[in-house]
Amino acid sequence: DLVSAAAPLPSVSKSNIEHRWSDITSYTTKKKVQSWFQLPNGNWELARIVKTAGSESVISLPDGKVLNVNSDSLIPANPDILDGVDDLMQLSYLNEPSVLFDLQYRYSRDMIYTKAGPVLVAINPFKKVSLYGNNYIEAYKNKSIESPHVYAIADTAIREMTQDEVNQSIIISGESGAGKTETAKIAMQYLAALGGGIGIEYEILKTNPILEAFGNAKTLRNDNSSRFGKLIEIHFSETGKISGAKIQTFLLEKSRVVQCAEGERSYHIFYQLCAGAPRTLREKLNLKDVNEYKYLNQSNCYAITGMDDAEQFHIVKEALDIVHVSEEDQESVFAMLAAVLWLGNISFNMIDNENHVEAVADESLINVAQLIGCETVDLNLALSTRKMRVGHDNIIQKLTLSQAIDTRDALAKSIYACLFEWLVEQINKSLAVGKRRTGRSISILDIYGFESFGRNSFEQFCINYANERLQQHFNRHLFKLEQEEYIQDGIDWAKVDFDDNQDCLNLFEKKPLGLLSLLDEESTFPNGTDITFANKLKQHLNSNPCFRGEREKAFTVSHFAGEVTYDTTGFLEKNRDLLHLDSIQLLSLCSCHLPQIFASNMLNQSEKAVVGPLHKAGGADSQKLSVATKFKQLRCCGVLEVVRISRSGFPSRMSHQKFARRYGFLLLENVASQDPLSVSVAILHQFNILPEMYQVGYTKLFFRTGQIGILEDTRNHT
Ligand code: ATP
Ligand code: MG
Repeated sequence: DLVSAAAPLPSVSKSNIEHRWSDITSYTTKKKVQSWFQLPNGNWELARIVKTAGSESVISLPDGKVLNVNSDSLIPANPDILDGVDDLMQLSYLNEPSVLFDLQYRYSRDMIYTKAGPVLVAINPFKKVSLYGNNYIEAYKNKSIESPHVYAIADTAIREMTQDEVNQSIIISGESGAGKTETAKIAMQYLAALGGGIGIEYEILKTNPILEAFGNAKTLRNDNSSRFGKLIEIHFSETGKISGAKIQTFLLEKSRVVQCAEGERSYHIFYQLCAGAPRTLREKLNLKDVNEYKYLNQSNCYAITGMDDAEQFHIVKEALDIVHVSEEDQESVFAMLAAVLWLGNISFNMIDNENHVEAVADESLINVAQLIGCETVDLNLALSTRKMRVGHDNIIQKLTLSQAIDTRDALAKSIYACLFEWLVEQINKSLAVGKRRTGRSISILDIYGFESFGRNSFEQFCINYANERLQQHFNRHLFKLEQEEYIQDGIDWAKVDFDDNQDCLNLFEKKPLGLLSLLDEESTFPNGTDITFANKLKQHLNSNPCFRGEREKAFTVSHFAGEVTYDTTGFLEKNRDLLHLDSIQLLSLCSCHLPQIFASNMLNQSEKAVVGPLHKAGGADSQKLSVATKFKQLRCCGVLEVVRISRSGFPSRMSHQKFARRYGFLLLENVASQDPLSVSVAILHQFNILPEMYQVGYTKLFFRTGQIGILEDTRNHT
């Protein structure tokens, strides 16, 4: 309906509209509309303006307190009639507290979905909400419900794919725990319900428990946190039925296999296997309880409330059956998992005065050798020595304790990562699209969310970099959508400026002096350490506004979602992630499944551009009237970015007809010609709306922020 005007976001410096901000503020204070006032604790309170004198205003707060404040600190609030609108773009004043208030208003009524223009914002309810299932799917299919929903997004994707014959993508972003993976599943359910028929949809849904078992883990932020990125491309036939699917995974967090922080877990599948394997399998693999494995007991966390690992094991096994992983292959997978666990228990003995070691010949070594199908001697050699070429000679170098441990861990990580890739490949074979593919597809992207902990390491560095890239892609897509609308209406696009997170991306990507290049370079220096790396960063990057060197080995990056301080400890080792030739040779000679798994491990990490209409937010947990300052929630998922981009040019628009109809009666003089364009132009003149504040398009008028609000108010008071 009415495309409303809004105040620009105070935190954004947009030179061409910023100066209007104070105009709007003085306007709202003059009119004594209700305003948001931020308390020292960060919460926003709805304030009534009692009086205004000079630059000061007297306000009264809901608790009766009366304060004397600087008028500039007041941010206009929306009229009550706009409480809980289902599209944030409908707000007359679009600023952080207003957005928060709207989301919270809806959230407290279990309306977890809200639109922000082309984007769907979802707030994690952390409880069962009755918004899903066949009845809802039917209702969205029949259009008998129109409130924002993932189903509606999926429905639009199907419709546009079929009608416009354009492939669609749904991007889900948001910080860790926001609900991306759940949302992806909800979208898949809708697609499966509408495009189902030949049975493949059932297989597609069953890939979720498998990939979650092998690629998700409990973190401090989320009991079921995705530790890999996933793009699932669902293919449709000409008749609109699902004909197959293809899954691509990105950058599994390998380090979790060998180490994880206190209170976190390794990948679910390890616990599921230990808890759920039937007796015969347990005996075959020499399985023990989880607390007997070093890789699992180092973080002091075994169980997840509400998750039954044994039961989950059976669900995963069933799903593996459904995607046609044979019983024999499944057993090999479990054997590899057991091998990884036993590897972690291998310890080393010092054998000379130079710190050189060899593996202790205990049950761990024997079990690993047996599980992967090699001799214990060969395994021991692979773990404690390294073949080197010096000049023309091959020499055998003995490893020190820390080198041997690194070698052991690298082997474990590598086996697991290959296993994961192999599984994805098997799944893809099962879901493979038939010959009669039409090329039409809907893709869903679900990656690990932005993370910021007390201590952030290489894993967070990678995850946050991936999110930064995704955010840019998203920004640019939205910007393009906007641009297209302007161009279609003949508006001069040059008048709209736009900045995004390119600075931060440059910090990562610039060659040769970016974070990634410097890290790679330092990783190849024989004498490179985490400290020399940190020093290099400080030396080369200190002038970058997104970078700040910290004490000792740390540095801070200003991400779009907020600042994160990274501790460089372990960065070089994790970045090198070397699997030595000796280990590779060992594995290629094993009699187990691994040679096949390794051979097939052609990591395809090429990045695929996907765009789409879905978006995801973190949860607002306070239900009080005053809005908690959970901006970071909002910033992580880029809601404010979306709003800002959509609002950065001429965000308010109205057709000439509508504008003339709505405000024509305010004209003091008759206009010679009654056509909507002439009436509109006369209105603009009468209200002295400055030429830089609007653009006249072929069909619509485009306004800078705040302009329509003023007209609206005049209209309402006339
Ligand atoms: P990460 O980036 O760590 O992978 P994520 O954004 O994928 O996080 P999810 O795993 O989807 O987060 O969600 C975390 C938890 O929140 C879920 O396990 C579930 O308990 C709850 N949750 C998310 N969405 C919903 C929903 N729509 N209804 C009910 N509960 C939900
Ligand atoms: Mg997830």
